[in-house]
Amino acid sequence: MSSYPHMLAPLDLGFTTLKNRVLMGSMHTGLEETKDWNRVAEFYAARARGGVGLMVTGGIGPNLEGSVLPGAAMMTTDADVANHRIVTDRVHDAGGKIAMQILHAGRYAYGPKCVAPSAIKSPISPFPPTELDEDGIEKQIADIAATAGRAKEAGYDGVEVMGSEGYFLNQFLVTHTNKRTDRWGGSYENRMRLPIEVVRRVRETVGPDFIVIYRLSMIDLVPNGSTYDEVVQLAQAVEKAGATIINTGIGWHEARIPTISTSVPRAAFAWVTKKLMGKVGIPLITSNRINTPDVAEEVLSTGCADMVSMARPMLADADFVNKAAAGKSAHIAPCIACNQACLDHTFSGKISSCLVNPRACYETELVVEPTQTPRMIAVVGAGPAGLSAAITAAERGHTVTVFDRASEIGGQLNLAKQVAGKEEFWGFVDWYRTMVDHHGIKVNLDTEVSAGDLGDFDDIIIATGVIPRDPHIPGQDRDNVVSYVDVLNGTATPGDRVAVIGAGGIGFDVSEHLVHDGNSTTLNLPEWMREWGVADIEEHRAGLAPEGPQPEKAAREVTMMQRKPSKVGKGLGKTTGWIHRASLTMKDVNMIAGVNYERIDDDGVHITFGAARENPQVIAADTVVLCAGQLSDRSLADTLEAAGKACHVIGGADVAAELDAKRAIDQGTRLAATL
Ligand code: NAP
Ligand code: SF4
Repeated sequence: MSSYPHMLAPLDLGFTTLKNRVLMGSMHTGLEETKDWNRVAEFYAARARGGVGLMVTGGIGPNLEGSVLPGAAMMTTDADVANHRIVTDRVHDAGGKIAMQILHAGRYAYGPKCVAPSAIKSPISPFPPTELDEDGIEKQIADIAATAGRAKEAGYDGVEVMGSEGYFLNQFLVTHTNKRTDRWGGSYENRMRLPIEVVRRVRETVGPDFIVIYRLSMIDLVPNGSTYDEVVQLAQAVEKAGATIINTGIGWHEARIPTISTSVPRAAFAWVTKKLMGKVGIPLITSNRINTPDVAEEVLSTGCADMVSMARPMLADADFVNKAAAGKSAHIAPCIACNQACLDHTFSGKISSCLVNPRACYETELVVEPTQTPRMIAVVGAGPAGLSAAITAAERGHTVTVFDRASEIGGQLNLAKQVAGKEEFWGFVDWYRTMVDHHGIKVNLDTEVSAGDLGDFDDIIIATGVIPRDPHIPGQDRDNVVSYVDVLNGTATPGDRVAVIGAGGIGFDVSEHLVHDGNSTTLNLPEWMREWGVADIEEHRAGLAPEGPQPEKAAREVTMMQRKPSKVGKGLGKTTGWIHRASLTMKDVNMIAGVNYERIDDDGVHITFGAARENPQVIAADTVVLCAGQLSDRSLADTLEAAGKACHVIGGADVAAELDAKRAIDQGTRLAATL
């Protein structure tokens, strides 16, 4: 028997059967907007070949006013139907099933034509919406139903009606956004009239044998959100109106509680769906931070849901389900929930990809094919850049040898994994180890390589990474001044009051590490919920604890500084920066921008402000941690080049500024695909 009997069990929907309990949840990748339908089709077909039971597309708009932004994909014309047919045919040829998500953004639409139940601007959009009148509401319902009809015409197996995350239908449900006094507002019966009418009209349009998923916000996490009784009432009404499956939505986009980032515990919200089990007769899907077959199996076997939704994990590895079914879970490239190449791209208007798998959404462009001319390749540096190059090259049939002076592979990932809330990095390094072994890559650790050792190789890839930048602050040679490396690898023991010099990604990581001191709420769901103020929705409306966030006291007093006058943390990830800032603010971390570092002495760090070096202050500290950025370690590359030996320089060794694993892995993979 397979290790995942629940996850791999078929799901009989009466008129059709899903081959397993894994849904690829909707993701807005930006692919549909490229209008390169071959590329779109290949993205979904790759996941269909990978064995997923059912996929949901990114959100497709039913009309201009409901589209997430001007130019976003819609399904309103015959040409749209023909284009989507390319996708559905390719998915069906690959043995998959696919539903199209209909997304009406309401007041979240990023455009001046946006509409909503009431004219209340959302905190995450600059555009105030227009309040819909009766005709306007009927138009939205008709457009959504017509879009569902076109989806069927285009060959989709179903549609998902997006009713959660604070979008249009969700906006009608709660008094937070619905102040109407007509039959679409006021009592809960009135407020839920629109979602129910939409499901009813969609079902009427598509007929009986077509999947209709309703994505229902089961815990809004915003003030005046739905109560548990309202959630149950809605779910039952949605079933009655004709839905085939109910999917779980967690939190509105404007909620100030993280719901999918890496510091959220795995399967943190499966308990919410579980409450609804048995309250409706149709299958329930649960979602959020489920990223391995073991977590999925645990969620299903403990009765939290009938099916699990995994979205980002399918970017990280298109073959997730097949690998799990074949007993090769360790081969699944893990989604580390960083958002760096997926959601951060989406919200910056870029096409999504995946930090771990740069081929995601680039299936037609970044092709890794067997080589016709196998070569001997040396890779110096076993960090993400070197490892991604080594694995891709070996996958193509080259003979690869990796060298690193460290005693384990992983490079800076081994520092990241020490940080509270970044536990996913452990699995990431484990995966690299598995793939290195799988491809028979020879690894020489504890090895300082010189140019002379590399003479026998056809290609040399230098991925020697970075060295910490020297900030040249008077007094930095004192015993109480340490590097972030010493703090994260545990060789330094910081005191009770710590000053952190530099507030980039590493300054934030180090500060998290210092205030948590090994006690990570990511590994303790009840503590994490208390920390962020998440309550049992059965007891508190919208799942918000009345007392608000209750973080544990910080393990240390930390002050983080930068020279730039801009807001501290401004350069962090678009969708995760606020979480890092909020997390450290909850721990009373002092963040100071615009400083000049004058000197470090027994009292701490002496700083001033501005060009005139005014307002001198002392940041009292027992320990000072230098997190002042990085410089490329190009020493070996320079020696080779001076000796006339060609080499490829990638990752931090190539460009250190703003280095992150995303760029390193992308560069390593792309290089190896061409050798
Ligand atoms: P960074 O983001 O470039 O930040 C370097 C910090 O050092 C800045 O705060 C900078 O601020 C300061 N600095 C630069 N030169 C200095 C000098 N001469 N003296 C004193 N301070 C100086 O670099 P990082 O923090 O080392 O991170 C490296 C990369 O890893 C980042 O690009 C980041 O993307 C990635 N990373 C990301 C995460 C994440 O959570 N996504 C976590 C860890 C690392 P001022 O110049 O204003 O003083
Ligand atoms: Fe997961 Fe990060 Fe890849 Fe997004 S970029 S799919 S969060 S690993």
